[in-house]
Parts: sequence; C-alpha cells; structure tokens
Amino acid sequence: SIKGQYGKHFAVYDDKLRKKLLLEQAITDSMEDALEQGQFEVYLQPKYRIEDNTLSGAEALIRWKHPEFGMQAPGQFIPLFEKNGFITKLDQFVWDRACAMLQEWDQKGHHLPSISANVSRADIYNVELAEILTTLVKKYGLKPSRLHLEITESAYTEDPDQIIDTVSGLRDLGFIVEMDDFGSGYSSLNMLNQMPMDILKLDMKFIQIETAKPVHQGILRFIMGLARSMCLSVIAEGVETKEQLERLRQYGCDYVQGYYFAKPMPCDEFEALMCQSDKQSEIQEELPLLEE
Ligand code: C2E
Ligand code: MG
Ligand code: MG
Ligand code: MG
Repeated sequence: SIKGQYGKHFAVYDDKLRKKLLLEQAITDSMEDALEQGQFEVYLQPKYRIEDNTLSGAEALIRWKHPEFGMQAPGQFIPLFEKNGFITKLDQFVWDRACAMLQEWDQKGHHLPSISANVSRADIYNVELAEILTTLVKKYGLKPSRLHLEITESAYTEDPDQIIDTVSGLRDLGFIVEMDDFGSGYSSLNMLNQMPMDILKLDMKFIQIETAKPVHQGILRFIMGLARSMCLSVIAEGVETKEQLERLRQYGCDYVQGYYFAKPMPCDEFEALMCQSDKQSEIQEELPLLEE
C-alpha cells in the first residue's frame, strides 16, 4: 500500500540520519583527544612557478589518521568542525606546523618561499585572528609574507564587510592573502574589484573542464587579463595534465598546483622533494658557467 511505501521510505531515511548523527557525535567526542594524541597530520602539496618550473611554495592540507577508521580526508570532518567550532583550534594547529616547517627548513638551508594555509570562515570572525597570526610568525622568527592565507570565495561573498575589515588588517601586517576556489561561487566581477587580496586561486573546475573548447579558453584568458589589470597573481589548482599546464602557461597564469606535479604528502616526503629541487636549481645556476 501507499502508506506502507511511505513508511518504508521514512524508516530508511531515519536510519541514515540516525547513523549520520551517531557518527558526528563520535567524531565530536574524540576530536580534542585526537589533536592531543597527534592523530592530525599536516600534508603539503607543492606549488610551482610556471615561468621556470621552480618550487614556489606549498599548501598545507590537514589529514586525520584515525586509529579505527583509517586516514580521513578533510571532506569527512571539516564541515562538522566548522559547525561545532573546533575548526578554529585545528586551523591554529595547522598554521603552527606550517611556520615550524618553514623555520626548520630555513635552518637547514632549503629555499621554500612560503606555505599557504586555509583559513576557515569561522576564523574570519575571530577578533584575535591578527594577534594569533602575528604571535605565531614571531615565535618562529618568520616574516608574515612567508605565510599565505587561503580564504574561500564563498566567505568573501557571504560577508564582504567583515572580509574587507579582517583581510585588510592582515595584509597591512604583511600576510599574503589568496582568494581560494575562485569561480566556484557567485562573486561578481564588480565585487572582486573591491575585495582585498594578493593572489587569485582558480577553482579546479575551471581547469578540469574541457579546456580545448574555444569558449573556455576565452574565459580563462579573460580571468588572467582581469587579474593582471588588478595587479593580482594567479594560481591554478587541480592541474592534472600536461595539456592543462601548457594552456595555463600560454594564458599567462603565474603558479600551478595539482596531481600532475604531486599529490599532498607528509612533511618528510616534501622535504625530500625539496632537496631534489634545490639540487636542480643549483644545476641550473651552474649551467651558464659550464657553457663558457
Ligand atoms: P582547498 O583549499 O581548495 O584545497 C585543494 C584540494 O584539492 C585538496 O583537497 C587537494 O588535495 C585537492 N587537489 C589538489 N590538486 C588536485 C588535482 O590535481 N586533482 C584533484 N582532483 N584534487 C586536487 P583536500 O586535501 O581533500 O582538502 C579539501 C578541502 O578541505 C580544501 O580545499 C579546504 O577547503 C579544506 N581543508 C583542507 N585542509 C584544511 C585546513 O587545514 N583548514 C581548513 N579550514 N580547511 C582545510
Ligand atoms: Mg586551499
Ligand atoms: Mg580552501
Ligand atoms: Mg581550493
């Protein structure tokens, strides 16, 4: 009967919802301990300068090595942490690790210009944000410009006044701000012009659509031109193929990040990668001498 069918649907729905709530509760109950026990780990994904293929930085991305459920990607827990407020604490952990790595690698003589970290929309409303970040870079003896702050486009559109206030303050202090996921939401071109930022980070959907189609090429060219006229650098994320890379190069994109180069990796693997690229740039520097 119809009644029976509805009943069944409700039952299925209830069960799914119940499981979801139970899982959320389990995560919420364990997150504080997980942080203390070192279950959260910062992975790094390299960013390259397109002009000469040199390593220009890295993005810090959080991973949860859960003792029961295994390695968890951020999609599994960040939305919940944004709801329950824990993201503020977790982000501070990530920023701290990023600065610690920069200091350690400076001391070892590597040349990593910067690390970018994600700043959640919740952090934007934290009145202590500027102070926390300033204290942090001081603690590790770094210039603020070594830490790039990635703020998602939707946070910009949600509360432009708050963003202008917070981000202008951070930039005045010397931090570099990237608008993350540009093109995934609904920022108007008019608004873009008024928003404080240093770098435009193109959402991967722009890169991964059929870039061979003339209209998409037009859009990409247009964005690059717009960014240049606003004195912004452009980074493309989600670059997976050589073809995508070559098109971006052709259009004047400044930086690239994506699986074509490397996936996010643990810090020790990143260090090994950095050692290789240090060697490569030494070889490049020596080349003109050899030719003499
Ligand atoms: P995001 O900030 O846009 O980070 C880029 C995401 O794209 C990362 O996913 C990265 O692994 C993935 N990615 C990079 N290159 C490629 C590629 O070539 N192909 C594909 N398919 N994907 C690529 P991940 O690490 O799963 O992070 C997802 C999102 O979770 C991030 O998006 C960010 O919004 C959030 N997130 C990650 N770590 C943190 C954090 O420490 N704090 C906060 N607040 N959010 C974080
Ligand atoms: Mg990001
Ligand atoms: Mg992000
Ligand atoms: Mg992004």
